Amino acid sequence: MVMGTSGKEPAQGRLIDRLLGQERVKALLAADLRAGRLPHALLITGPAGVGKSTLARAVAQALLCAHPDISGWGCGICPDCQAVEAGVHPDLHWLAARDGQRIGLDLLREWVRQVAALRPARANYSVGVLIPADMLTDAGQNMLLKSLEEPPERVKWLLVTESPAGLLPTVRSRCQQVSLTALPVALVEAWLVDQGVPQQVAASVARLSGGRPAIARELSAEESAALRRAVAEWVLQLGKVSAHRLFEEAQAWAEAQDLAKRLETLALVLRDLALVASAHGQVQQVHELLLVPELKERLVKGDLRVPESEIFIDLAKEAYQMARKVGQLGSARLGVEVLFLRVRDGWHKERSFERVPAQRR
Ligand SMILES: [Zn+2]
Repeated sequence: MVMGTSGKEPAQGRLIDRLLGQERVKALLAADLRAGRLPHALLITGPAGVGKSTLARAVAQALLCAHPDISGWGCGICPDCQAVEAGVHPDLHWLAARDGQRIGLDLLREWVRQVAALRPARANYSVGVLIPADMLTDAGQNMLLKSLEEPPERVKWLLVTESPAGLLPTVRSRCQQVSLTALPVALVEAWLVDQGVPQQVAASVARLSGGRPAIARELSAEESAALRRAVAEWVLQLGKVSAHRLFEEAQAWAEAQDLAKRLETLALVLRDLALVASAHGQVQQVHELLLVPELKERLVKGDLRVPESEIFIDLAKEAYQMARKVGQLGSARLGVEVLFLRVRDGWHKERSFERVPAQRR
């Protein structure tokens, strides 16, 4: 758990300007902020990576800013805005659960006390941000409910969650819901290109992210690209490697910290290979649909041939399911070995088809 900090991006103007898209939500909140009628509790919802916590910080900045501009948002320049940005404003109380852990009652009680029981130290409001709100126990939600029901003046609650269904209906009904949505892929792509991501990569990862900018940025990082490249290379040579090499690699995967990520990447690579296989050499038909930019490059160079087989799509599904179960896998190594062996069979499929008529002769 972390209390008191709210992120570490470099200082550069208004936080609201870092929220990509979501123009309708921005306009509605700005109108409320300008009129001084922001509800006492907001429930900010939306899928991972669309900017929920960025929005929470921007709203906090608007509430705590010493000189809000006519837009309603924080000026981004005054000491209060900068303190919000740096995560050190005394009237911003940030409570974040970490790693899927529940938020304990003692921690919650102390946070509620800081937000609601004390007068703001230097701004007009005291702002409590809770991320993700669905990580409260039912007892915790009931404790919070009391504060939501009798809102002390000058207190604003910003609850953030991907899963509003994980909250008690009584808690939900006390909040005004603000829903962020995935963005048009083209918008995310243009945003990535603006940040210097090569066009080809930007196009693929924007689509891969499902229109979620934070996910797209992560996917376009060199680290993610290197992993995709390595996994793609491994899959492409799997038909030719020795059994010894295959088992060695399976062991390395099973012991890797990022096994889930590797398996997800494997699923993507296999998915793309299935698409290429289904195109029967009509590259243009599938080029746009590929999600792994490193495979796209090979396809364009004419350096990618895949046996026409249904098996890669089944294996993609298996790899994806396995990725979701990492941690509860009895023997990750055995699972990965079997998967690799089946991918290897996939590469040999075409060859075995060729062999059949030869045997009949
Ligand atoms: Zn300001």
